[in-house]
Amino acid sequence: MMTIETLEPATIQQALFQNPDEHGYYGSFGGAYIPEMLQRNVAELRAAYLEIMDEPSFKQEFNQLLKDYVGRPTPLFYAERLSKELNSNIYLKREDLCHTGAHKINNTIGQILLAIRLGKKRIIAETGAGQHGVATATVCALKGMECIVYMGEKDIERQAPNVARMKLLGAKVIPATSGSKTLKDATNEAIRDWINNPIDTHYIIGSVVGPHPYPDMVARFQSVISKEIKEQLLEKTGSENPTHVVACVGGGSNAAGAFYHYLDELDVQLVAVEAAGHGIYSGMSAATTQLGKPGVLHGSKSLVMQTKDGQVVEPHSISAGLDYPGIGPLHANLFKSGRGVFLSATDEEALEAAFHLSKIEGIIPALETAHALSALKNLELTPKDVVVVCLSGRGDKDLATYMKAMGL
Ligand SMILES: *Cc1c(COP(=O)(O)O)cnc(C)c1O
Repeated sequence: MMTIETLEPATIQQALFQNPDEHGYYGSFGGAYIPEMLQRNVAELRAAYLEIMDEPSFKQEFNQLLKDYVGRPTPLFYAERLSKELNSNIYLKREDLCHTGAHKINNTIGQILLAIRLGKKRIIAETGAGQHGVATATVCALKGMECIVYMGEKDIERQAPNVARMKLLGAKVIPATSGSKTLKDATNEAIRDWINNPIDTHYIIGSVVGPHPYPDMVARFQSVISKEIKEQLLEKTGSENPTHVVACVGGGSNAAGAFYHYLDELDVQLVAVEAAGHGIYSGMSAATTQLGKPGVLHGSKSLVMQTKDGQVVEPHSISAGLDYPGIGPLHANLFKSGRGVFLSATDEEALEAAFHLSKIEGIIPALETAHALSALKNLELTPKDVVVVCLSGRGDKDLATYMKAMGL
């Protein structure tokens, strides 16, 4: 094992939930636990990211691309029939209408612009289901950057359409053939690549996970979601604040984006929904806050599903995007502090919610998103409540699963 940098957590619990401390800690979670040989890359990023993101020319280009390329602002849609059924007020934040079909592109646009300003020539990423790989390959094509995506050999077989998309977009997909041949192994390959190419390569991480500054950087890029919700809700209801914001959590980037500008507004209830798979305690689940213990995964300290002796447990969810044994440190802190409410939905419940939204609102959601929708029935909503659900992605990619569940 290589040497590990361990940063001591801040001794004083932060009053606010939005920003990590200078070492990247949200309460007792976060930090940068990385091999010695990555120190330089991560330190370079840490020293530069806030300054670059604050440059007027960066903001201008980022916002212009979000508008003209991604299609932002995404609508905030009042779901009338669903609201009537739940006797409340449900708004859907339509991230499913983003270019490439989900929120992930908000982050990859931000990171490619940052990589260019850092003088990088080469982009690497790892992907499980392929969604982040597609979002990364997309922005590399947009900017003419070399793109290498590491993907477990088993995932390459299971996710053929996304592999084809990445290749169409000009990316090189390299199979990870070690271990279980899935996401964890792809991550190891990407880290190895970064160690070998420290000068010219930027590693685009796809969620609010990884060593500091990634969780904060990704949350900031995704925070456009709650920035827009505030403006849109003010226009529609006369108030910027809903009573609840609901989002599904894999690593936690769409939830971080939807929560971001509400994190320190304590009257807004933040509801995170994890994947319970076949049931939280079935041994086939991805409900990290319910099952996880503090541990280090992908370079930061967070809650991790693990055995007694610290081996990472293979998670299960019907939705590939939630099939992750950890959770971003921002969310671990929301859970531990009680600032966030953490619920879960099983595979079965998610399917039901996806079918229901399709029929009642004419919107076929991604399976990940369906977990968030499924939790609405557990919230004991009243007619006074205003609930925003982050509709993180569209269901096209899940059609095969939906067909199977319908017996087609
Ligand atoms: C990847 C993905 C997720 C899960 O990732 P987060 O980082 O937790 O947001 C959720 N929804 C969709 C549609 C996705 O593609």
